[in-house]
Amino acid sequence: MKNTDYDVIVVGAGPVGSTAARYAAKSGANVLMIEDHASIGSPVSCTGLLSTRAVSECDVHPSDNFVLNKVRGAFVHSMNGACLPVDGKKTKAYVVSRKNFDRTLAAMAVDSDVKLKINTRAIDLQNREGVQKLSVIENGDIKDITSKVVIGADGVRSRIAKMAGLGGVKKTLPGIQIEAPYNSPDKDFVELFVGSQAPGFFGWTVPIDEKVSRIGMAVDYNNDENVSLHLERMLKSNSHISSRYGGGQVDLVIGGIPLGPLEKTYSEGTLIVGDAAGQVKPTSGGGIYTGAACAKIAGEVAARAALEEDNSAQRLSEYDRRWRAKIGKELTMGMKIHSFMGGLGDSEMDELIASMNKPPILDTITTYGDMDHPSIVIKKLLSPSNSRHLFGVFKAFAKAVL
Ligand SMILES: Cc1cc2nc3c(=O)[nH]c(=O)nc-3n(C[C@H](O)[C@H](O)[C@H](O)COP(=O)(O)OP(=O)(O)OC[C@H]3O[C@@H](n4cnc5c(N)ncnc54)[C@H](O)[C@@H]3O)c2cc1C
Repeated sequence: MKNTDYDVIVVGAGPVGSTAARYAAKSGANVLMIEDHASIGSPVSCTGLLSTRAVSECDVHPSDNFVLNKVRGAFVHSMNGACLPVDGKKTKAYVVSRKNFDRTLAAMAVDSDVKLKINTRAIDLQNREGVQKLSVIENGDIKDITSKVVIGADGVRSRIAKMAGLGGVKKTLPGIQIEAPYNSPDKDFVELFVGSQAPGFFGWTVPIDEKVSRIGMAVDYNNDENVSLHLERMLKSNSHISSRYGGGQVDLVIGGIPLGPLEKTYSEGTLIVGDAAGQVKPTSGGGIYTGAACAKIAGEVAARAALEEDNSAQRLSEYDRRWRAKIGKELTMGMKIHSFMGGLGDSEMDELIASMNKPPILDTITTYGDMDHPSIVIKKLLSPSNSRHLFGVFKAFAKAVL
């Protein structure tokens, strides 16, 4: 194979790109990571609610540098005002500053000898005689950089996936979020709002402290109504929220949540990872745990393939096989849960919440609830001792997803 500037180039220095780049460098490759923006972690489209597992999957300790709050449970509110309290009884997730979190991961990549170029955007990708030629705009100048493997970690609107002929994700949910004054007496609980107030997905409040929360929603619907109108409506007409919301906002986030992974995440000389590949939990929209888990595999496979001088699609398919073996089933089940929940009317959602609001069921959720692997608790809920407490909609739910 011809000489190249780098063994591996990673496009995008989000949490997934930084993790992929670090693992490629740790596996012995000469790695460049490029980031379009002039600042790592900014702007960011995220609530920053990371499960404890997501943080450890990124190989970082939950430090004060990025942890703003700790969360142990959730209150799930349905349209009729019913509330399902889910108490994990210990810290289950962290609310983080994504800016500081992303910078921590980028710094770890640089510490592992990854070369980082910011203010550098990938604009074209060509495969010429087995060499990947990436055209970039670096500080205003167009340049070509070559490598054996390119990893596309360029987020929900990935250009690398399209340029490599791998298409796009199945669907992208519009999401919106403000950071605003909000009274949270239980700052270690998030609130979720289901039903027609956030059609097809859910709304949330995620406390940073007792006085400020991230309040947002994502929706999945087939009409033209803007997601911001839904958020405005929820802030005004949901009496629980309006009694706690102090008005105004200090931050606004708008972004897309990709659901349904790409059918193929590799081609000759290219791997796609993270949001770019649709490796996002369809039940929550969270993409850090799944993205980081896949990024480690992508980094390792890219480095080994480059060092073996074999960047063929067949060699790189190892990545696709390994990440699907790790999280593929969970994503498939997540899509089924997402589709089922999206099809419920308000009264059915109320019934589902009521059916789960019983001590044995809540105990099972406390013991087995797992933000990253919802299938575990669903299987436990269907055990004979629990299923006699569950009726109607829940039974239909179980039938649809299992
Ligand atoms: C409203 C909202 C709330 C969310 N809340 C959560 C949450 O609480 N918890 C959670 O786990 N997930 C959440 N997510 C999802 C989470 O933000 C993503 O899954 C995560 O950021 C994916 O990381 P990534 O590195 O794949 O992509 P990104 O973080 O999007 O990083 C991609 C990077 O690539 C860069 N880039 C793009 N194109 C190019 C190019 N051509 N050249 C060079 N660089 C490029 C971008 O500038 C960006 O820095 C949320 C998403 C939304 C929209």
